[in-house]
Amino acid sequence: MKVLKFGGTSVGTVESLRHVKAIVESQQSRCIVIVSALGGITDRLIRTANLAASRDHAYTTEFEIVTARHHEVIEGVVPAESRAEVLAITDAMLDELATLYKAICLLGELTPRTLDMIVSYGERMSCVIVSRILGVPVLDSRSFIRTQSRFGKHVLDAETTSSLLHAAFGPLEQANTVVVPGFIASDSNAQVTNLGRGGSDYTAAIIAAELGAEILEIWTDVDGFMTADPRIVADARVIDRLSFVEAMELCNFGAKVVYPPTIYPVFHRNIPIVIKNTFNASAPGTMIAERVNQTEMTVKGVTSLADTALIRVVGRTFHDFGRVVNSMARNGVDMFLASPTAGTFGVRQNDSVKAVSVLREELAAELTSGDVDAIEAVDSLATLAIVGRNLRSMPESAEMLRRALNQEGIPVLTAPRNDSDTTVACMVPASHVKQALNAVHSSFFS
Ligand code: ASP
Ligand code: MG
Repeated sequence: MKVLKFGGTSVGTVESLRHVKAIVESQQSRCIVIVSALGGITDRLIRTANLAASRDHAYTTEFEIVTARHHEVIEGVVPAESRAEVLAITDAMLDELATLYKAICLLGELTPRTLDMIVSYGERMSCVIVSRILGVPVLDSRSFIRTQSRFGKHVLDAETTSSLLHAAFGPLEQANTVVVPGFIASDSNAQVTNLGRGGSDYTAAIIAAELGAEILEIWTDVDGFMTADPRIVADARVIDRLSFVEAMELCNFGAKVVYPPTIYPVFHRNIPIVIKNTFNASAPGTMIAERVNQTEMTVKGVTSLADTALIRVVGRTFHDFGRVVNSMARNGVDMFLASPTAGTFGVRQNDSVKAVSVLREELAAELTSGDVDAIEAVDSLATLAIVGRNLRSMPESAEMLRRALNQEGIPVLTAPRNDSDTTVACMVPASHVKQALNAVHSSFFS
């Protein structure tokens, strides 16, 4: 059994849905097909909600576009015999959405729970459409993907999901292909939730891992992972093979091909992932699997993470970095590139203010006594990383990175270090990131 996940652009237009149909129909074995909302619809549903909440009646125009997009694909690709039924189902959902938007506009208020409800309609409608195009049933992920709340975010409740998922798929074990909406989930109060933006990939990975799929295929609109973002680095090329860890590192450091949590569940079960292009199905794509060819090049790609900040705890007599780490963990702030000796670490830009205020509280006594001179944030940085394998046995990689940046006169805020076998990273001003990526890419890939 295979799990095939089709992203928003793959299910976004009449043309792309024809490709999806051909791809699924050419499969030899049973498949579980996971779908995103039609491309751009999740953004539009959110925008419509925000307009309604600010009582801007332009929300109705946005909503008309949502309706038109769905009608267009239903009329263009759903077989004539199912069209009326699909239209009736989606129109009923669009009516519910219209009522929700009206209520938001009247109240002038949009709660996170209402927004979760609103965005769920994207996948709820796309799965009905795709299921009728393929002529196969839907299995609703709200009934088996369970989330719980952590620091105000929905996170997977893996244990409950596992038992619900086996119960849901059990009776279908021998059946043929089914379509499953990605992204959406529910909590223990039966409220609709989701796995976060881009979460359809994660839905697919969870299902592939639990059911022991032979492979997870992620069908998207690019040929695979690239050595750098091709919109920034013109001579970037497709990477044909990656290990799970390399793929995870590329995602964590900003490669936008798949949602970062996706790799872990399948890695854990050693199920390979292949990234394929719906619009160029014959291209080989990128294979992510454990066994990698030892002779292939060591550095696989250059990535960057925008919107990061550097936090500095300044004080020559302060050595208790463990307290810094603990206080960040207690407050749900993710750290990276932590350097206990320098007293510095990176955070997402969103967490910068919080990190500083938590630390000022945690280290109030040290600030008063002078053991800590200052706690400060350097904002608007980008984190640049080279990702590959055996980088620790290639210490010159850090040196090459530093040299490439120095030659361009780009300020480097944290010295590049081989902290792991798979990444060497450093922070540079966000304003220099394009120049930095090009310089580093050409020094490693020319
Ligand atoms: N439709 C959701 C989003 O746009 C989930 C996904 O596409 O993976 O974030
Ligand atoms: Mg995506």
